Amino acid sequence: MPPEMDEIVRLSKQRGFIFPSAEIYGGFRSTYDYGPLGALMLRNVKNEWWRSMVQMRHDVVGLDAAILSSPRVWEASGHLANFTDPLVDCRNCHERWRADHLEPSPEDGRLHCPNCDSTDLTDARAFNLMFQTHAGPVQDEGSAAYLRPETAQGHFVNFLNVLQTSRKRPPFGIAQIGKSFRNEITPGNFVFRTREFEQMELEYFVPPAEGAKWFDYWCRERLEWYVGLGIPRDMLRLRPHGQEELSHYSAGTSDVEFLFPWGWGELEGIANRTDFDLKAHAAASGVKLEYFDQATNERYVPYVIEPAAGATRTMMAFLLAAYDEDRIGGEKRTVLRLHPRIAPYQVAVLPLSKKDTLTPVAEEVLGRLQPIAMCDYDETQSIGRRYRRQDEIGTPLAVTVDFDTLEDRAVTIRDRDTTEQVRVPIDDLVAQVKSRLGF
Ligand code: ATP
Repeated sequence: MPPEMDEIVRLSKQRGFIFPSAEIYGGFRSTYDYGPLGALMLRNVKNEWWRSMVQMRHDVVGLDAAILSSPRVWEASGHLANFTDPLVDCRNCHERWRADHLEPSPEDGRLHCPNCDSTDLTDARAFNLMFQTHAGPVQDEGSAAYLRPETAQGHFVNFLNVLQTSRKRPPFGIAQIGKSFRNEITPGNFVFRTREFEQMELEYFVPPAEGAKWFDYWCRERLEWYVGLGIPRDMLRLRPHGQEELSHYSAGTSDVEFLFPWGWGELEGIANRTDFDLKAHAAASGVKLEYFDQATNERYVPYVIEPAAGATRTMMAFLLAAYDEDRIGGEKRTVLRLHPRIAPYQVAVLPLSKKDTLTPVAEEVLGRLQPIAMCDYDETQSIGRRYRRQDEIGTPLAVTVDFDTLEDRAVTIRDRDTTEQVRVPIDDLVAQVKSRLGF
């Protein structure tokens, strides 16, 4: 079973994964800052996505589009008119809620306020989630701009640029990672739902007849990505959307869901968006967004399969799935069993004592390991306490430099999960560490 949310919030704060933003001013509306360990871990989550989506394939290219974009983009995409959540106010306690998140009460089927239980709620009104700002010094209608609520439109408006410069042909994809902003009515559950977050989105363009096939392919592929990075299979599921839940343009949507402490929640949505987006932007811009297949002399608007994941939400799932408590020598320990590619540090270099005699060789060991792994270097407190600290932040390997090292040029590698220790010559260390980490 996953740990309580409180455990993860506590560990995040105490060890430097995630801090409430502007904490010295009392925080700011469910925004968060990623501390030294969180910045490393979030980067690892994004790097692993990029590695599997771009680096390990020949049919996907990358993109890094602007966060501020022409309002015409959001008009054409339908976000200005439709990117809304149903907002209700409680007339009794004045809390605001998303109507689609409220449970009807079993007695009379009416929605009731989760805060004060009142059923005196306003009718739902559509609340647009996009953050509006102004580009340039004059704040008028003409200077209105929006922070992107998803990274995805950047892929569509650059479709021709990418097609022409990358020499790809369908099936091919465009991958992008970056910040998105939504003025969520009820952010919460730590970083599960925040107003500023990071997404990892692929738009995969295919011949229309192959849409269903590629949709199935990406559902399988994406589920396996999480499993491959250590999330137990029984904490994951693929949930197909029912007919009533489907967006009007979608020919199929499935969510990859994770078993959060409060129940199943979405990590990623995979949708067959058909030719909706390219056609909408072609109609609004007057630019044809098509592919001409020279082999068959056919011109067509590709279908797009979109696996859209959240990097920050996924990082939280990795933390929850990795959290464990066990006993070592009768003593309770907290351990994050993170996959080596996700863990903030892969190796901790720990000189047994702060004595000057050990420093040069410890620094030599560190210098050998830094090119292959992110290393922590810690020389204070007892070695036992330092091991515990590394266990608690998920470091898979600790390398201890002791006084014998000065004689035998060997160090001890300790494994986080088994706590087993082996002595290896410094000259074999890089090869040993690589093989243990699976690098
Ligand atoms: P919901 O219905 O929960 O509001 P959604 O279905 O609109 O979410 P998508 O638009 O499919 O979400 O976004 C893709 C992914 O981006 C989500 O699966 C999630 O991981 C992430 N995401 C979306 N909104 C947020 C948010 N407010 N905070 C953190 N991550 C988010």
